[in-house]
Amino acid sequence: MNIVKATEKITLEEIAKKIAKCQRCPLYKGTTNPVPGHGNPNAKVMFIGEAPGYHEDQQGIPFCGASGQLLDKLLALINIDRKDVFIVNILKHRPPNNRDPQPAEIEVCKTWLDQQIEIIQPKIIVTLGRFSMYKFMPDVKISQVHGQARYVNFNGQQYTVIPMFHPAAALRRGDVMVKIKEDFQKIPKFLEAQTKPMETNLTNTDETDKKDEQLGFL
Ligand code: URA
Repeated sequence: MNIVKATEKITLEEIAKKIAKCQRCPLYKGTTNPVPGHGNPNAKVMFIGEAPGYHEDQQGIPFCGASGQLLDKLLALINIDRKDVFIVNILKHRPPNNRDPQPAEIEVCKTWLDQQIEIIQPKIIVTLGRFSMYKFMPDVKISQVHGQARYVNFNGQQYTVIPMFHPAAALRRGDVMVKIKEDFQKIPKFLEAQTKPMETNLTNTDETDKKDEQLGFL
């Protein structure tokens, strides 16, 4: 697979190599593989999860365990193949016993994800779970905003961000499963809207001012 965009200064492949050597936090100790991210460098849709689990650590591929199987089924619902999207996590190494990412880990690891977003420039970013949602929308509750697309100006570039529940939560709770399926089925509509001229007056935001604006076509 060619994951190099000719026009970019740094490539996804180079970032993956840097992640493999990363010692910015202690998480690399005791892991089997880094999990930099995987998929199509020209993807229109990028999914951002939380952190690698056991299977991801074993294989070096994001979402390849039970949550990943559900993610594949959700993608199949909307006729999208995993090879056409890009899948990453907030953290690139597995936290011990799958504990929650710590703020300091998120802070030092964000350099990799930020560069990946900048290279791929996806039309739509789908956040899976709270931790990736907080990257773009720090002051919201997932139960209140899931499935709602917002324009977010992130590092000088505008993205459509759609927060969704984490697939692992859907595997635990039937009500969340219903919601995640409904939310996934909105993705094609949001993608189509990306091809139309924007009618909304967009809010300018950046990392220090994370106000965002809900899209007008919801
Ligand atoms: N959960 C995540 O958030 N990411 C993975 O890669 C696997 C499970």
